[in-house]
Amino acid sequence: MKLRVLNCGSMYVDESSLVAGIRNATFRNQNPVAEWVEIPVCAFLIETSGGLILYDTGCHEREANLPPDADTPSPYVFKPEQLLPNRLEELGVSPGGIGSVVVSHLHCDHAGYLHLFGDSEVVVSDSEFTGAMRLYGLRGFGAGPYKTEDFDAFLSSVSNWRLIGSGELEYELYPGVTAVNFGPGHAFGMTGLLVELPKSGNFLLCSDALYRSDNLGPPVKPPGLVYDSLGYIASADFIARYAKKHKAKIIFGHDSRQFERLLSSGGVFE
Ligand SMILES: [Zn+2]
Repeated sequence: MKLRVLNCGSMYVDESSLVAGIRNATFRNQNPVAEWVEIPVCAFLIETSGGLILYDTGCHEREANLPPDADTPSPYVFKPEQLLPNRLEELGVSPGGIGSVVVSHLHCDHAGYLHLFGDSEVVVSDSEFTGAMRLYGLRGFGAGPYKTEDFDAFLSSVSNWRLIGSGELEYELYPGVTAVNFGPGHAFGMTGLLVELPKSGNFLLCSDALYRSDNLGPPVKPPGLVYDSLGYIASADFIARYAKKHKAKIIFGHDSRQFERLLSSGGVFE
Protein backbone atom coordinates (compact mmCIF):
# COMPACT_ATOMS: atom_id res chain seq x y z
CA MET A 1 0.00 0.00 0.00
CA LYS A 2 1.22 3.53 -0.81
CA LEU A 3 0.22 6.99 0.31
CA ARG A 4 1.07 9.70 -2.19
CA VAL A 5 0.99 13.38 -1.23
CA LEU A 6 -0.33 15.55 -4.08
CA ASN A 7 0.74 19.19 -4.21
CA CYS A 8 -2.27 21.02 -5.69
CA GLY A 9 -1.00 24.62 -5.52
CA SER A 10 -1.37 27.28 -2.84
CA MET A 11 -3.64 29.83 -1.30
CA TYR A 12 -2.75 33.09 0.39
CA VAL A 13 -4.48 34.05 3.63
CA ASP A 14 -4.15 36.38 6.59
CA GLU A 15 -2.33 34.24 9.14
CA SER A 16 -4.84 35.23 11.84
CA SER A 17 -7.52 33.30 9.90
CA LEU A 18 -5.43 30.15 10.56
CA VAL A 19 -4.87 30.77 14.26
CA ALA A 20 -7.13 33.33 15.93
CA GLY A 21 -5.29 35.97 17.90
CA ILE A 22 -1.86 34.93 16.61
CA ARG A 23 -0.96 38.59 16.22
CA ASN A 24 -2.91 40.32 18.97
CA ALA A 25 -2.04 43.91 19.74
CA THR A 26 -0.01 44.52 22.90
CA PHE A 27 0.76 47.64 24.91
CA ARG A 28 4.14 47.86 23.15
CA ASN A 29 2.81 46.93 19.69
CA GLN A 30 -0.66 48.43 19.49
CA ASN A 31 -1.05 48.18 15.72
CA PRO A 32 0.42 44.86 14.60
CA VAL A 33 0.60 44.35 10.85
CA ALA A 34 -1.28 41.38 9.35
CA GLU A 35 0.85 38.60 7.82
CA TRP A 36 -0.20 37.43 4.36
CA VAL A 37 1.02 33.82 4.23
CA GLU A 38 1.15 31.13 1.54
CA ILE A 39 -0.41 27.79 2.49
CA PRO A 40 -0.52 24.53 0.53
CA VAL A 41 -3.59 23.00 -1.11
CA CYS A 42 -3.23 19.24 -1.05
CA ALA A 43 -4.84 15.90 -1.80
CA PHE A 44 -3.73 12.34 -1.11
CA LEU A 45 -3.84 9.24 -3.27
CA ILE A 46 -3.81 5.85 -1.56
CA GLU A 47 -2.88 2.89 -3.70
CA THR A 48 -4.07 -0.45 -2.36
CA SER A 49 -4.21 -3.88 -3.90
CA GLY A 50 -8.00 -3.42 -3.81
CA GLY A 51 -7.92 -0.19 -5.83
CA LEU A 52 -7.30 3.53 -5.55
CA ILE A 53 -8.67 5.85 -2.88
CA LEU A 54 -8.46 9.64 -3.10
CA TYR A 55 -8.66 11.98 -0.11
CA ASP A 56 -9.87 15.43 -1.23
CA THR A 57 -9.97 16.75 -4.78
CA GLY A 58 -8.07 20.06 -4.78
CA CYS A 59 -9.26 23.50 -5.79
CA HIS A 60 -10.83 24.28 -9.18
CA GLU A 61 -8.75 26.49 -11.46
CA ARG A 62 -11.60 29.00 -11.75
CA GLU A 63 -10.90 30.07 -8.13
CA ALA A 64 -7.66 31.62 -9.37
CA ASN A 65 -9.39 33.79 -11.98
CA LEU A 66 -9.80 36.89 -9.88
CA PRO A 67 -10.22 40.46 -11.07
CA PRO A 68 -7.44 42.77 -9.83
CA ASP A 69 -9.82 44.40 -7.36
CA ALA A 70 -11.11 41.08 -5.94
CA ASP A 71 -11.78 41.22 -2.23
CA THR A 72 -11.29 37.51 -1.63
CA PRO A 73 -9.62 36.57 1.67
CA SER A 74 -7.96 33.46 0.21
CA PRO A 75 -6.87 33.67 -3.46
CA TYR A 76 -5.77 30.41 -5.11
CA VAL A 77 -2.60 30.18 -7.18
CA PHE A 78 -1.33 27.18 -9.10
CA LYS A 79 0.98 25.92 -11.81
CA PRO A 80 -0.86 23.90 -14.48
CA GLU A 81 0.67 20.60 -13.37
CA GLN A 82 -0.66 21.18 -9.84
CA LEU A 83 -4.34 20.99 -10.79
CA LEU A 84 -5.70 17.69 -9.50
CA PRO A 85 -6.68 16.26 -12.94
CA ASN A 86 -3.14 16.98 -14.18
CA ARG A 87 -1.56 15.48 -11.05
CA LEU A 88 -3.54 12.28 -11.62
CA GLU A 89 -2.72 12.20 -15.34
CA GLU A 90 0.97 12.55 -14.50
CA LEU A 91 0.60 9.38 -12.41
CA GLY A 92 -1.24 7.57 -15.19
CA VAL A 93 -4.47 7.55 -13.18
CA SER A 94 -7.81 8.40 -14.77
CA PRO A 95 -10.59 9.69 -12.49
CA GLY A 96 -12.76 6.74 -13.57
CA GLY A 97 -10.13 4.41 -12.12
CA ILE A 98 -10.58 5.68 -8.57
CA GLY A 99 -12.84 3.44 -6.50
CA SER A 100 -13.57 5.76 -3.59
CA VAL A 101 -13.15 9.46 -2.94
CA VAL A 102 -13.26 10.66 0.66
CA VAL A 103 -14.00 14.39 0.87
CA SER A 104 -12.96 15.93 4.17
CA HIS A 105 -15.64 18.61 3.68
CA LEU A 106 -17.16 20.46 0.75
CA HIS A 107 -15.22 23.75 0.79
CA CYS A 108 -13.83 24.80 -2.58
CA ASP A 109 -10.19 23.95 -1.87
CA HIS A 110 -11.16 20.33 -1.10
CA ALA A 111 -14.12 19.62 -3.41
CA GLY A 112 -12.96 21.58 -6.50
CA TYR A 113 -12.73 18.58 -8.82
CA LEU A 114 -15.24 16.28 -7.12
CA HIS A 115 -17.41 16.33 -10.26
CA LEU A 116 -14.77 14.23 -12.07
CA PHE A 117 -15.59 11.25 -9.85
CA GLY A 118 -19.09 10.38 -11.03
CA ASP A 119 -18.06 6.71 -11.30
CA SER A 120 -16.64 6.55 -7.75
CA GLU A 121 -18.13 6.01 -4.35
CA VAL A 122 -17.98 9.46 -2.69
CA VAL A 123 -17.67 9.45 1.10
CA VAL A 124 -18.61 12.56 3.06
CA SER A 125 -20.08 13.38 6.46
CA ASP A 126 -23.89 13.34 6.47
CA SER A 127 -23.87 16.57 8.53
CA GLU A 128 -21.60 18.25 5.99
CA PHE A 129 -23.73 17.10 3.06
CA THR A 130 -26.98 18.14 4.73
CA GLY A 131 -25.73 21.48 6.07
CA ALA A 132 -24.05 22.52 2.84
CA MET A 133 -26.96 21.34 0.69
CA ARG A 134 -29.39 23.38 2.77
CA LEU A 135 -27.28 26.49 2.16
CA TYR A 136 -27.02 25.63 -1.54
CA GLY A 137 -30.82 25.31 -1.80
CA LEU A 138 -31.31 28.62 0.00
CA ARG A 139 -28.74 30.37 -2.26
CA GLY A 140 -26.83 31.05 0.93
CA PHE A 141 -23.19 30.52 -0.07
CA GLY A 142 -22.46 34.23 -0.47
CA ALA A 143 -18.72 34.88 -0.74
CA GLY A 144 -17.91 31.97 1.60
CA PRO A 145 -15.86 28.83 0.99
CA TYR A 146 -18.67 26.74 -0.59
CA LYS A 147 -18.98 27.47 -4.31
CA THR A 148 -22.19 27.13 -6.31
CA GLU A 149 -20.24 26.12 -9.44
CA ASP A 150 -18.68 23.17 -7.56
CA PHE A 151 -22.07 22.01 -6.28
CA ASP A 152 -23.76 22.41 -9.69
CA ALA A 153 -21.00 20.27 -11.21
CA PHE A 154 -20.70 17.45 -8.66
CA LEU A 155 -24.45 17.11 -8.07
CA SER A 156 -24.95 16.49 -11.76
CA SER A 157 -22.29 13.77 -11.89
CA VAL A 158 -21.89 12.04 -8.50
CA SER A 159 -24.65 9.58 -7.62
CA ASN A 160 -22.94 6.98 -5.42
CA TRP A 161 -22.81 8.92 -2.15
CA ARG A 162 -21.79 7.19 1.08
CA LEU A 163 -22.82 9.52 3.88
CA ILE A 164 -21.24 8.98 7.28
CA GLY A 165 -23.97 9.46 9.89
CA SER A 166 -23.46 11.43 13.08
CA GLY A 167 -23.48 8.23 15.17
CA GLU A 168 -20.97 6.47 12.94
CA LEU A 169 -17.36 6.89 14.00
CA GLU A 170 -15.45 4.89 11.40
CA TYR A 171 -15.97 3.54 7.90
CA GLU A 172 -13.33 1.10 6.68
CA LEU A 173 -12.80 1.46 2.94
CA TYR A 174 -10.08 -1.16 2.78
CA PRO A 175 -8.04 -2.91 5.49
CA GLY A 176 -5.80 -0.12 6.82
CA VAL A 177 -7.75 2.74 5.20
CA THR A 178 -10.52 4.09 7.42
CA ALA A 179 -12.62 7.24 7.13
CA VAL A 180 -13.06 8.80 10.58
CA ASN A 181 -15.92 11.08 11.60
CA PHE A 182 -14.46 14.13 13.36
CA GLY A 183 -17.87 15.80 13.79
CA PRO A 184 -18.58 19.51 13.34
CA GLY A 185 -16.03 22.26 13.88
CA HIS A 186 -14.31 23.88 10.93
CA ALA A 187 -17.38 22.99 8.83
CA PHE A 188 -20.74 21.22 9.41
CA GLY A 189 -19.02 17.83 9.50
CA MET A 190 -15.36 16.91 9.01
CA THR A 191 -14.06 13.54 7.85
CA GLY A 192 -10.49 12.36 8.36
CA LEU A 193 -8.67 9.35 6.99
CA LEU A 194 -6.50 6.89 8.92
CA VAL A 195 -3.96 5.21 6.64
CA GLU A 196 -1.99 2.36 8.20
CA LEU A 197 1.18 1.73 6.24
CA PRO A 198 3.41 -1.31 6.79
CA LYS A 199 6.77 0.52 6.58
CA SER A 200 6.14 4.23 7.20
CA GLY A 201 3.65 3.75 10.04
CA ASN A 202 0.22 5.25 10.45
CA PHE A 203 -0.99 8.61 9.16
CA LEU A 204 -4.11 10.46 10.25
CA LEU A 205 -5.11 12.89 7.51
CA CYS A 206 -7.04 15.67 9.24
CA SER A 207 -7.64 18.28 6.56
CA ASP A 208 -9.04 21.51 8.02
CA ALA A 209 -10.14 19.96 11.31
CA LEU A 210 -6.60 21.21 12.10
CA TYR A 211 -5.01 23.68 9.68
CA ARG A 212 -1.60 23.58 11.31
CA SER A 213 0.25 22.05 14.24
CA ASP A 214 -0.24 25.18 16.35
CA ASN A 215 -4.04 24.72 16.20
CA LEU A 216 -3.61 21.45 18.09
CA GLY A 217 -1.78 22.99 21.06
CA PRO A 218 -2.27 22.04 23.82
CA PRO A 219 -4.22 24.09 24.49
CA VAL A 220 -6.23 23.94 21.26
CA LYS A 221 -6.03 27.24 19.36
CA PRO A 222 -9.05 27.61 17.08
CA PRO A 223 -8.72 29.37 13.74
CA GLY A 224 -10.15 32.81 13.01
CA LEU A 225 -12.91 31.30 10.89
CA VAL A 226 -14.84 28.40 12.35
CA TYR A 227 -18.40 27.10 12.00
CA ASP A 228 -18.74 25.56 15.51
CA SER A 229 -16.10 26.67 18.02
CA LEU A 230 -16.99 24.15 20.77
CA GLY A 231 -17.19 21.41 18.13
CA TYR A 232 -13.79 22.51 16.87
CA ILE A 233 -12.17 22.06 20.28
CA ALA A 234 -13.93 18.72 20.83
CA SER A 235 -12.78 17.42 17.44
CA ALA A 236 -9.20 18.63 18.03
CA ASP A 237 -9.14 16.79 21.38
CA PHE A 238 -10.64 13.72 19.71
CA ILE A 239 -7.99 13.79 16.96
CA ALA A 240 -5.19 13.98 19.53
CA ARG A 241 -6.58 10.96 21.39
CA TYR A 242 -7.37 9.00 18.24
CA ALA A 243 -3.89 9.61 16.78
CA LYS A 244 -2.29 8.49 20.04
CA LYS A 245 -4.42 5.35 20.21
CA HIS A 246 -3.51 4.43 16.63
CA LYS A 247 0.11 5.62 16.90
CA ALA A 248 -0.59 7.84 13.90
CA LYS A 249 1.23 10.92 12.65
CA ILE A 250 -1.25 13.79 12.29
CA ILE A 251 -1.21 15.38 8.83
CA PHE A 252 -2.57 18.92 9.01
CA GLY A 253 -4.74 20.57 6.35
CA HIS A 254 -2.71 23.64 5.41
CA ASP A 255 0.58 23.44 7.31
CA SER A 256 3.25 24.72 4.95
CA ARG A 257 6.19 23.57 7.09
CA GLN A 258 4.87 20.04 7.49
CA PHE A 259 3.89 19.92 3.81
CA GLU A 260 7.44 20.90 2.76
CA ARG A 261 8.81 18.08 4.93
CA LEU A 262 6.40 15.56 3.41
CA LEU A 263 7.36 16.59 -0.11
CA SER A 264 11.08 16.79 0.60
CA SER A 265 11.06 13.21 1.81
CA GLY A 266 9.69 12.20 -1.59
CA GLY A 267 5.96 12.57 -0.93
CA VAL A 268 5.38 8.81 -1.18
CA PHE A 269 5.02 6.60 1.88
CA GLU A 270 4.73 2.83 1.90
ZN1 LIG B 1 -8.99 24.06 3.33
